Amino acid sequence: MHIKEVKELLGSPKNIVITTHKNPDGDAIGSTLALQHYLRAKGHDAVTITPNEYPDFLKWIPGQETIIKYSCDTQIAQSKIDQADLIFTLDFNHLSRSGDMEGILNKVQATFVMIDHHQQPDTYAKYTYSDTGMSSTCQMIYHFIEILGDLDKITPEIATCIYVGIMTDTGSFRFRSTTSTTHLVIADLIKQGADNTKIHEEIYDANTLSRLQLKGVALNNLKVLPEYSTAYITMSQKELDSHNFKKGDTEGFVNLGLSIQGIKFAIIFIENKGEGIIKISLRSKGDFSVNEFSRNHFEGGGHHNAAGGKSNLSLSDTVEKFISILPAYKNLLNQ
Ligand code: 5GP
Ligand code: MN
Repeated sequence: MHIKEVKELLGSPKNIVITTHKNPDGDAIGSTLALQHYLRAKGHDAVTITPNEYPDFLKWIPGQETIIKYSCDTQIAQSKIDQADLIFTLDFNHLSRSGDMEGILNKVQATFVMIDHHQQPDTYAKYTYSDTGMSSTCQMIYHFIEILGDLDKITPEIATCIYVGIMTDTGSFRFRSTTSTTHLVIADLIKQGADNTKIHEEIYDANTLSRLQLKGVALNNLKVLPEYSTAYITMSQKELDSHNFKKGDTEGFVNLGLSIQGIKFAIIFIENKGEGIIKISLRSKGDFSVNEFSRNHFEGGGHHNAAGGKSNLSLSDTVEKFISILPAYKNLLNQ
């Protein structure tokens, strides 16, 4: 990214839209709101628009009450996008990830800025800050503010938002993308007012009884395929419905399979009758690329060790398809 040009653009007040991918996660919400706080403090008219709803466990993050959801507030979102001089797209790198907003974003005249850490970025943005080695988009927002020479403008609200995304995208600082720089950033965020204990509690101690029991269903459905060092979980719409399912309730379930000794590849298939798809989450340890696997077989992608995808088949046919693909990966999975 030509940071000088971006700095110049931000030198005078602009109408700015900040957006992120469909089904936003902690990194998506944390990064958009951190940037929104920062840009508003710099005198811009900045709004965050998400394609759709985000999980309840993020509904305490500073500024979240200002988020415009395209799926509910379509008219307002549309007019903000039409008026925008600049559109920041965060935590995704292909407009097809914007759900129902894809069409408008494709047509609009505004200047696009992409900040993202996923693999194989598309070229829609005039300014692209893409780094697949980064722990999270939130860490990149910190570095973006750093490059603009504004680290002293990080407020407790901004620090909290950035902390959330780094924490959630690194599995609480355990994934390989967690570097010494990540920890230095985190240290500075705590210094600037991020309350780390409170943040962990808000995100991870937000279970309801029905959600915990849903996790019990997931554990019950967990299957291990030792010959492929693989574990998978299915969740039918019926099982979700009978546990009062809300968006975000299945977050992290895929990691249950990955916590078994010797398992290198874990996958969860979640039936979504409303959208007529099976939503898939994939995780791996080590060299096996779930990004490649999902790209090749399940219309998705993401990172080397964490990806998502979908299937238009039934739940049982999707699992059957998955099991029929595995033999081709036997050597890779048993290395
Ligand atoms: P999750 O399994 O937590 O939904 O997503 C894991 C990672 O894969 C995230 O970085 C997410 O952005 C990405 N991802 C999830 N679903 C999709 C998808 O359908 N397509 C692509 N390209 N990436 C996805
Ligand atoms: Mn992310």
